[in-house]
Amino acid sequence: METVQESLPEKDASVEASVAAPLAPSTPLRARHSLPPKGSCWYCEKPLDSVRRFCGKECADGFDEEAEFTR
Ligand SMILES: [Zn+2]
Repeated sequence: METVQESLPEKDASVEASVAAPLAPSTPLRARHSLPPKGSCWYCEKPLDSVRRFCGKECADGFDEEAEFTR
């Protein structure tokens, strides 16, 4: 009667937990945050200055919604 099998699952579980915990992101990046400004609104193509991606919050939200549907 050996008890080797009982100790193995215990080790595996502790290793998995310590590896997985720090890698889990609590707030995933929105699609629009990885876009470069292109001089016009990414959603409605309205001309903008060179640092903005969207002309307003509504366009940013609309773009996010579309990005989630097309993922
Ligand atoms: Zn817009």
